[in-house]
Amino acid sequence: MVSRRIVKDTGFIDEEEILDSLEQAKTAHKEHALDIVEKSKSFAGLSLDELAVLLTNNDSEVRDAVFEAANSVKERVFGSRIVFFAPLYVSNACANNCLYCSFRKDNKDLVRKVLTEEEIENETKTILGQGHKRILLVVGENPRLTGIEYIEKAVAAIYRTRSGKSSIRRVSVNCAPLSDDEFRRLKAAKIGTYQISQETYHRETYKRMHPSGPKRFYNWRIEAPDRAMDAGLDNVGIGPLFGLFDWKFEVMATLMHAQHLDSKFGIGPHSISISRLALESNAPAAENPPFTLTCEDMKRIAALLRLAVPYTEIILSTREQPELRNRLYELGVSQTNASGGYAEAYHPETEQFSINDMRNLAEMSRQMCHEGHIPSFCTACCRTRRTSGRFMKLAKRGDIHKVCEPDALISFKEYLIDYADPATRAEGEKTIAERLEKLEPAIKERTRTLLAEVESGKRDVYV
Ligand code: SAM
Ligand code: SF4
Repeated sequence: MVSRRIVKDTGFIDEEEILDSLEQAKTAHKEHALDIVEKSKSFAGLSLDELAVLLTNNDSEVRDAVFEAANSVKERVFGSRIVFFAPLYVSNACANNCLYCSFRKDNKDLVRKVLTEEEIENETKTILGQGHKRILLVVGENPRLTGIEYIEKAVAAIYRTRSGKSSIRRVSVNCAPLSDDEFRRLKAAKIGTYQISQETYHRETYKRMHPSGPKRFYNWRIEAPDRAMDAGLDNVGIGPLFGLFDWKFEVMATLMHAQHLDSKFGIGPHSISISRLALESNAPAAENPPFTLTCEDMKRIAALLRLAVPYTEIILSTREQPELRNRLYELGVSQTNASGGYAEAYHPETEQFSINDMRNLAEMSRQMCHEGHIPSFCTACCRTRRTSGRFMKLAKRGDIHKVCEPDALISFKEYLIDYADPATRAEGEKTIAERLEKLEPAIKERTRTLLAEVESGKRDVYV
């Protein structure tokens, strides 16, 4: 249970309000919870109090209604597409001591590695060879070795790499908080999304988990998305690392964070990651997670965040088992990483955590097709002017699927022709033909034309 504590300087994460709201919600009746679920189907989002009611109600009827509503909201807003990306860890050198991460400075058993530009290019070639078009660059915090200059060079190395005619079309970055000026440099590097996890929104826990290094300052971190957006980087990803504190508190705080960004900038977070603390050696909090989460909890987290912040991408990582991942795609997740072990220069002893889902891209694509999703390699939003404000306007109106679904089909077709084995191609073409028929008439014809263009050799096309 969450310990109650008055915190004076909470900024926009008001711990007291969260705890009060969760406490009051305990008296709400099942009928009230079901009404909230019904209302959420119009994808207007949830208030903090409404979210608290759904978080505290453990009735199976309410849970099933939440799952069903999350599925329909995800379909209505984004369609059936799930976007793939590949994470690329460029450095595990770190000046911090996060108790849950094996990159921590005090882990003397870890072989430290900072990839050179040439090594980054080689990694990128391997990732391109798998069919990916998006990379998430992940880097430990080491101001001396991997500051903004290193990140700029790493991003440029990825963008300039070619494998045949293919190149990475969108590089997102997960790195430590930067200053205003550094965020402007990141923007100039033409990145996709800037991602940062607050790890835990609970100040006391945050303090305990980050005993030393630059990361120990909660405010510097929580204000990073504000600084990034002020610098013009309006595709920003947020989210906690579930398992460090009570997950219901973290879900409430995530909504509070999203509401803060939305009210200040008119644009909420582009994405929310739902990562669960994974087992790691030489990381005390990961060896003994302070708060364990069940798979059922993870399903509720995905579904409730989908209802609470319907316009945001929800991202899932490979740290989960295939069965759970497949279920989460039905409950609101809209992006996922996929990789089959591309790490040539990233040797096992430098790995951060065990990856539980080692199915390769082709296997994952086939599985998704079987389950009614469209695997997407689309990067159309950043190729056109459909970024940030415009994307979010469409998403908030529930109209983004009108471009996401056709562009997913077109990008999937490109993948099937260029990278898939015959069985995956056959399965994928079947999905494309079926889904094409379900598109609205006007967009269907345009999509058919573009699919034919891809068939005849054209690349990087979108509606
Ligand atoms: N150093 C940067 C930072 O901390 O923001 C970015 C790199 S760090 C490896 C990226 C993320 O990995 C962290 O934000 C954290 O959420 C996640 N992470 C660290 N240890 C983890 C663990 N044991 N299980 C799951 N995720 C973990
Ligand atoms: Fe370093 Fe990030 Fe790992 Fe913390 S989570 S030890 S900052 S890499």
